[in-house]
Amino acid sequence: MKNILLLGATGSIGDSVLNVIKQNNKELNLIGISFNKNVDKAREIFVDHPYLSYVHVEDQKAYKYFCARMDYYPDSSPRDWTHRPSELEDLINHESIDIIVCAISGFAGLKATYMAAHSGKKVLLANKESIVAGGDLILPIAKENKTEIIPIDSEHNAIFQCLNGEKGTEDVKKIIITASGGPFINKSISDLKNVTVKEALAHPNWKMGNKVTIDSATLVNKCLELIEAKHLFSLDENYFDLVVHPQSIVHSIVTYIDGSSICQMSSPDMRVPIAHAMSDKNRIPIDFNSLDFTSLNLSFQEFPPDRLEIQSIAREVCNKGSNYGVVFNAANEIAVESFINAKINFDKIYEVIYRTFDNKNVSKDLSIESINDIDMQTRIEAKKVVKSITN
Ligand code: NDP
Ligand code: MG
Repeated sequence: MKNILLLGATGSIGDSVLNVIKQNNKELNLIGISFNKNVDKAREIFVDHPYLSYVHVEDQKAYKYFCARMDYYPDSSPRDWTHRPSELEDLINHESIDIIVCAISGFAGLKATYMAAHSGKKVLLANKESIVAGGDLILPIAKENKTEIIPIDSEHNAIFQCLNGEKGTEDVKKIIITASGGPFINKSISDLKNVTVKEALAHPNWKMGNKVTIDSATLVNKCLELIEAKHLFSLDENYFDLVVHPQSIVHSIVTYIDGSSICQMSSPDMRVPIAHAMSDKNRIPIDFNSLDFTSLNLSFQEFPPDRLEIQSIAREVCNKGSNYGVVFNAANEIAVESFINAKINFDKIYEVIYRTFDNKNVSKDLSIESINDIDMQTRIEAKKVVKSITN
């Protein structure tokens, strides 16, 4: 039996992880969760999981509310509710935990991924922003502590599976990271001035949290994934091509120096990469939608030319290091938040990123304090850009 700590349990990835655990409850046990504010959902998870012993609540008000609501549950097993960062660290390092899933969204997940990297455990990583912003710090820490990081972002899990059994990446010639293209595929940025938040959140293939769904609509998600891949697979950015694949069936392709290309395919369903990452040597079963290969119509097209500027910033980040990733990520988070809150139009998301990135002042210091500082300064800059657009 493997005991799982699910960080970001109340989100979309959290749902998929819970489903995989439910289908394999003889091998997988949910022992701990974390969330930010969604007390009602956390309570539902709690009721469904009798062996759930540890709950970490990030938001202080939500923590108090959660404790008050849980008071009347009989203490059938030792249960512990926590809130302080040191308590999260203790939980991550708790001897009873075998697998940690990092599924918090955005830069907010960096702290937990950083702690998990020290743990020496198996870490399933969904939170791409923590690698974009902290890859140069976090991955060496993971290596030093023999922490096994397995990506569950579908493209990275696909690459991981395609590389499986290879001795290293020396024989890799090229890696194609596929992109669905989001709801606005084949539209240029100038067509997107007046799209609504609802339209941008209507992803054709995937049901995900709001932030990553907007990132998919702008294709900034693919830029974040390029940076994530560069760190996770220790390859230069020029090994990676970004290609639009509207069906989201082929999740990425690895081409070797001998001309073989290997891809991983499945219906768009996050439970597939999660099940793969949860398994040890043998795969674990889940119910899944089989692909009907006789009716598949797969197509691939080039990354939209008007998103090459944003892609080239991501490539610059790959070449200059993850402190530049902090800037790219924070500018994007502020831009997306401003779009969702109706402060800026969709097309202005790019402008906020470009202008904030142009004004960056990046320290070379590689520490968690420095990352937090660059993130904070960038958010101030990005908010100024938003303000200048809205005035
Ligand atoms: P959601 O927005 O659905 O869920 C986010 C989770 O993080 C929630 O549990 C939320 O708690 C928690 N959270 C938010 N802010 C904080 C905080 N400050 N401190 C602690 N916890 C916090 O996101 P997704 O599940 O869609 O995405 C999670 C990560 O996985 C992202 O990095 C995303 O890019 C990546 N990813 C997601 C995919 C998907 O299919 N959804 C696919 C590939 C990658 P609460 O609910 O209480 O606010
Ligand atoms: Mg992805």
